[in-house]
Amino acid sequence: MSTLFEPDSPAIDGFVPLCVPEIRGNEWEYIKECLDTGWVSSVGSFVDRFERELAAYVGTKHAIATVNGTAALHIALLVAGVQPDDEVLVSTLTFIAPVNAIRYAGAWPVFIDAEPTYWQIDTKQVVDFLNNDCDWRNGELRNQATGRRVRAILPVHILGHPCDMDPIIEVAHRYNLVVIEDATESLGAKYKGRSVGHLGDIACFSFNGNKLITTGGGGMIVTDDEHMARHAKYLTTQAKDDPLEFVHGAVGYNYRLTNIQAAMGVAQLEKLDEYIDIKRRIAKTYMEALCDIPGTTPMREAESASSVFWMFTLLIDEAQFGMDSRALLRYLDANKIQTRPLWQPTHLSPAHRWMCATDCTVAERLNRDAISLPCSIGLTQTDQRRVIELLSDLQRSHTWT
Ligand SMILES: *Cc1c(COP(=O)(O)O)cnc(C)c1O
Repeated sequence: MSTLFEPDSPAIDGFVPLCVPEIRGNEWEYIKECLDTGWVSSVGSFVDRFERELAAYVGTKHAIATVNGTAALHIALLVAGVQPDDEVLVSTLTFIAPVNAIRYAGAWPVFIDAEPTYWQIDTKQVVDFLNNDCDWRNGELRNQATGRRVRAILPVHILGHPCDMDPIIEVAHRYNLVVIEDATESLGAKYKGRSVGHLGDIACFSFNGNKLITTGGGGMIVTDDEHMARHAKYLTTQAKDDPLEFVHGAVGYNYRLTNIQAAMGVAQLEKLDEYIDIKRRIAKTYMEALCDIPGTTPMREAESASSVFWMFTLLIDEAQFGMDSRALLRYLDANKIQTRPLWQPTHLSPAHRWMCATDCTVAERLNRDAISLPCSIGLTQTDQRRVIELLSDLQRSHTWT
């Protein structure tokens, strides 16, 4: 049976999955406590504890648990003051969720290309667009092409590596824009010694099954801003105004995380640092091995960054490697090794046909050439060696013929 395009699934006889959850801490004990006490639903001590402990880990004053990372992004945009018809600058090379969230808020994405070295949002293009393609008048920034107000920048720290945040924060201050970090792929990563999620005004995490730590499904909003935090808690819990009467002061959402999920989150968070060490070790092993395989360019880590290597991704040069990224993907699939391409850049998505604010050719090239290799926390050294040997043998066999 072909594993291609099947959902991430646990390891079964010889199959090496891309990235599956690791569950070997206090999950059973904490979830059992929920079941034993009857605290299974949308409030409970584990929800409070998960929020408190995640905020402490990231270093923010507040954290608000949500049903998933996409919901967290939706609410973060609303409490950051993004209004219908505003524009939000966003990485084009990302999983689609943040772009959808911008549309949920009635706002419009302005797509920014990736930079070619670390593949994160190209900050030079962010700054150039704001300086040259927008007008600053009466304390508001407007896109010259559309006349719409530009309200926020939403950098996505992709694949476990932080974006270069200083230029983004500086230009955001200059034009009174909010910075919303999509940190869903990069919990635990650092930029100049500071935690991802504590760099902009507000940030979001995800605990989906393929992320570094998981609650099955879940998310978190973090911020130092008390007003935004309160508003986020209010909107995610149906905007209830009275402790007794059913009076709702706004159109709220049921975006809560359950106590059972939060219990799992608390247990997973206890393991996070250990898991990051393992992810970094897996990445180091791949990087060292790929040095000897022509036509492969592994992802890199910036001097100023500490990456958590959520995914391990490399670029394939067809001429040197002897095969393009998609052919390699199919070959590995036939050998029971699950890999994935990078996302279609969102400016090309049929769901988001919209102006491309900048030239997005780097993201298009990365999408064409990239492939992500198995990198589960539970990946055995034997399985990793098998992946590396297949790559190495394949490259050699092609250059010999
Ligand atoms: C995983 C992810 C999200 C949120 O995902 P959920 O499945 O809704 O928790 C958002 N943005 C990016 C870049 C992601 O990778």
